[in-house]
Amino acid sequence: MSFPTGHPQQYEPQQPAPQQYGRSSRMSDSSLRLVWVYPDLLSTYGDRGNALVVERRARQRGLGVQRIDVRSDQAVPTSGDIYLIGGGEDRPQRLAAERLRNDSGLVRAAENGAIILAVCAGYQILGHEFVNDLGEREPGLGLLDVWTTRGEGARCVGDVLAEVDPRLGLPQLTGFENHQGVTHLGQGVSPFANVQVGRGNGTGDGTEGAWRDTVFGTYLHGPVMARNPAVADMLIKLALDVNALPPADTTWYDALRAERIAATRQPA
Ligand code: GLN
Repeated sequence: MSFPTGHPQQYEPQQPAPQQYGRSSRMSDSSLRLVWVYPDLLSTYGDRGNALVVERRARQRGLGVQRIDVRSDQAVPTSGDIYLIGGGEDRPQRLAAERLRNDSGLVRAAENGAIILAVCAGYQILGHEFVNDLGEREPGLGLLDVWTTRGEGARCVGDVLAEVDPRLGLPQLTGFENHQGVTHLGQGVSPFANVQVGRGNGTGDGTEGAWRDTVFGTYLHGPVMARNPAVADMLIKLALDVNALPPADTTWYDALRAERIAATRQPA
């Protein structure tokens, strides 16, 4: 299936990927296809920044990027390399889940090995079910073996510091969380991280987010990629099927990270 036309897209002239990356079997042409799912429903706390940062980090390495912003009344393309989904309030979250169940594009993309990173409401939608704004159990997409209940206590709100699953080789995570949902992990996933500060999945076991293969869910806003450009780089490496990328300037990211990490360790 080709990308739909007739909606906002950001096409840049396609540049061939530098040879040293090797061509990934995942990438079907010379540019990275980045799909930002439902910006009209799922984009709280600047989660759109995740798409901007992945795009920027790819371009810094000389990669061409096709960024496709797919509104909720449009079909989700199946041929993307990286899919990003943001957070949302309870009603838009239900609407997004309904539409994503009816439009099987994201599920088919996942079956084809696409890389997906979803935040908060998006993370909950990737699971088996969550509790919707009507207080009912709403089916998710089942792309992650997790399910979300409604927390009985106070919302999980505040800055987070977390250590990422060491197999992913990422530095300390910094982010911001704001959710009522409590996410339980099944055998088919691993925690994305373990919190040092904050609540993460809200289960009290210190876990934050979940992942398997190339599908990731996290509660962290920030946006998470702006605070943790290494996460964006990880997605690009997965898309290219390489272990390393050429270095790229991180001056501004480092300044933001340092400021937020210091602020989180020393709450006012
Ligand atoms: N509505 C969901 C919850 O409160 C997700 C919130 C969010 O995405 N920030 O759990």
